[in-house]
Amino acid sequence: MTRPGMTRPGMTRPRVVVAGLGDSGLLTAIHLARSDVDVLGVSSRPGLVSGQELGLRLARPERWARDYRIGFDRFRRLDPVEKVHAELVALDPAGRTVTVRPAAGGTRSVPYDVLVVATGVTNGFWRLPHLQTDADVDAALAGAHARLAGAGSVLVVGGGAAAVSSALQVATRWPDTAVTLAFPGERALPRHHPRVWSVARRRLARAGVRLLPRHRAELPAGFTADRITTGPVRWTNGQAPVDADAVLWAIGSVRPNTDWLPPALLDEQGFVRVRPTLEVPGVDGVFAVGDVAATDPLRSSARNRADRLLARNVLAHLRGEPLSSYRPPGRRWGSVLGPEADGLRVFAPSGHPFRFPAWTVDRLLQAWIVRRGIYGGVRR
Ligand SMILES: Cc1cc2nc3c(=O)[nH]c(=O)nc-3n(C[C@H](O)[C@H](O)[C@H](O)COP(=O)(O)OP(=O)(O)OC[C@H]3O[C@@H](n4cnc5c(N)ncnc54)[C@H](O)[C@@H]3O)c2cc1C
Repeated sequence: MTRPGMTRPGMTRPRVVVAGLGDSGLLTAIHLARSDVDVLGVSSRPGLVSGQELGLRLARPERWARDYRIGFDRFRRLDPVEKVHAELVALDPAGRTVTVRPAAGGTRSVPYDVLVVATGVTNGFWRLPHLQTDADVDAALAGAHARLAGAGSVLVVGGGAAAVSSALQVATRWPDTAVTLAFPGERALPRHHPRVWSVARRRLARAGVRLLPRHRAELPAGFTADRITTGPVRWTNGQAPVDADAVLWAIGSVRPNTDWLPPALLDEQGFVRVRPTLEVPGVDGVFAVGDVAATDPLRSSARNRADRLLARNVLAHLRGEPLSSYRPPGRRWGSVLGPEADGLRVFAPSGHPFRFPAWTVDRLLQAWIVRRGIYGGVRR
């Protein structure tokens, strides 16, 4: 299966380095580990800390952690993968090496035959790229939860899925807390089908969330939405400021985690340029997937499970065979609101919701579809 010239001296199998073991990198590593390649995954965290379901994570962190924070040693199919807890600091495409800074200090050079870039994005206070220990992750989860639990009023600023799910989950977790959701447009969720907002608006109203459409927050110079703040928040078109004990910023200030990559590989916004095959143009043997990959305007390859196609393409590349293309759907889809008392709604690209009844979420969806079907087995 090895393409002539791909094998390094003394090595019998090509080595694939997966940079970032978040949602997409982990799944890519799992697929590749079943093939005739050596897989090494570099992760700034000691386990999977998923970027999914922010609202649940804030409101019910223990429940969230059960499904979205999983030690690497619990994934059966990750057993053959060498896991390195380190931060990636440089790529040398000519020398085919990445430089990593392990938790223990110093730097180490890691050679690859194929590199998969899956370092995701930094977003708000909940998706940060730096090296973290388990204790750091514990502290971040508990700190945000305690901050919201102690607030009599919460203002969520933003109109995407992270904002909508946070407003709903906070309002249902703490019914006595006054929750407001402020967003700049006529409706929230502008990148989803309009039907999704119709459903979400009804769920929010039912939970007692006050909606403030057409409210764009004034951001002081140098403001970074990387922590929960206190009110008041002012608005760009002069509406009355809104006060709140806790202000949750989910304003989509997303930054790609690409500081460690040569600028020639990046687009104007700093995301990794990719062909439809997920190859990075201009550099042999480098692929990208997930939120960091500029596949389409929505950068949708994580939620559309391009990890499977990517793993196939990596193997085809090593064999010198033709690669397949990723075709993104035009609209966002998936879970928006997170698990509710009556179950979990998953929205199709057409905006139609499919509701998994509450009893099926743990016993069917998480146990069989996610842990067994998607990850191929997760130890207790
Ligand atoms: C199975 C599945 C289901 C999904 N369902 C939904 C859904 O229902 N609704 C929805 O909206 N979205 C869904 N998504 C998409 C999800 O919201 C995000 O798009 C996804 O979490 C992004 O994954 P990622 O691997 O690109 O980034 P991340 O999960 O953020 O992973 C990136 C990793 O790289 C690490 N990293 C960053 N920089 C460095 C560095 N320098 N050195 C070392 N490590 C670094 C980060 O710490 C992180 O661990 C789903 C995704 C998957 C895979």
